Amino acid sequence: MAKKHILIVPGDGIGQEVTLVGKKVLDKIATKFNHEFTYDEALIGHVAIEATGVALPDESLEKMRNADAVLFGAVGHPKYDNDPSAKVRPEQGLLKMRKELGLYANLRPIKLFDELLSASSIKPEILKGADILFFRELTGDIYFGEKGRKNDGDTAYDIAEYSRYEVQRIGRKAFEAARTRRKKLCSVDKANVLETSRLWREEIQKLALEYPDVEVEHQFVDSTAMMLIKDPRRFDVVVTANLFGDILTDEASQIAGSMGMLASASIGDGTGVYEPIHGSAHDITGKGIANPLASILSAALLLDISFGMKAESDLVISAVDKVLKEGYRTVDIADATTAKDKILGTAAMGEAVLKFL
Ligand code: NAD
Repeated sequence: MAKKHILIVPGDGIGQEVTLVGKKVLDKIATKFNHEFTYDEALIGHVAIEATGVALPDESLEKMRNADAVLFGAVGHPKYDNDPSAKVRPEQGLLKMRKELGLYANLRPIKLFDELLSASSIKPEILKGADILFFRELTGDIYFGEKGRKNDGDTAYDIAEYSRYEVQRIGRKAFEAARTRRKKLCSVDKANVLETSRLWREEIQKLALEYPDVEVEHQFVDSTAMMLIKDPRRFDVVVTANLFGDILTDEASQIAGSMGMLASASIGDGTGVYEPIHGSAHDITGKGIANPLASILSAALLLDISFGMKAESDLVISAVDKVLKEGYRTVDIADATTAKDKILGTAAMGEAVLKFL
């Protein structure tokens, strides 16, 4: 029996809907395995701005620091998407959370459940068996460098920066993970043009000497984008910088059939944060149709990585697998052959997973 304190941070839009389901799954696991999980909630994003004027209030940050893990939803609101000049923005909460908690590694497992082969826009024979683990660097790069305007506002710039230390610490995590998998690591950069990429490659090459059992390849981001669609099975662990990782993992989400299926873990020096890779999805907010499986799979990652509860985590994944095998689908992963009565809303999909737990 273990005692753990989990902070629930639903954020905005469908984040509110799916995180509730993820929490129910954690609760069920606690009961089943005789653990004691306690919970608290905190604000982030648009809901935090409305309530406090800032996207990540100090109180939320304090709660995050004191928790054993955070189950997070999403941030975002159309109001800001259509107003690029807004000074206070929901995503500032996300970036601040990552920076303040030292979350430098974002792990995104891309694994296709066999039952969803036909839900992907890629041919099943190319997809079957694809299993990729992305390591996206999260606290450096063009997102955090100096940005501004010059020439009376007519020219804009964003500076990309990486230190050797930043590359080493994410690189090491990726090599360690490759060791526990198929022992292949693909480091993605743009070393033919970018200085940050040249430094990135130097550090990965140095690390490779410490991991002779891992086969390393260096690939440019443009050809990686192409290869992910052409032959996704050739990848095992992929490590890359913040901006490239942001784009490539959304592309790779199509391998899994839907954004609604993919979970991620952000880890670093302190509390780990677990979240679906999708955003707040205003187009479907409030309709009760959001796919909660990414949040449920985020809860599975939380159990495994932050609490070391592998059996509990595997049980959650197998419950999701069983639900899909039974033919249950949310609309985003349904296809023309799905029976109408097997299409479930957010809450019902959550209940189906709980049943198989
Ligand atoms: P999005 O991920 O919210 O949605 C993209 C598309 O996928 C939409 O059509 C949506 O309906 C669908 N989708 C996403 N999650 C789904 C789910 N669980 N079930 C069913 N369908 C799902 O991305 P977007 O539309 O580009 O952005 C919307 C807002 O989210 C913006 O404000 C953006 O800034 C924000 N955002 C936040 C995060 C985050 O918090 N980590 C990530 C990406 C985008």
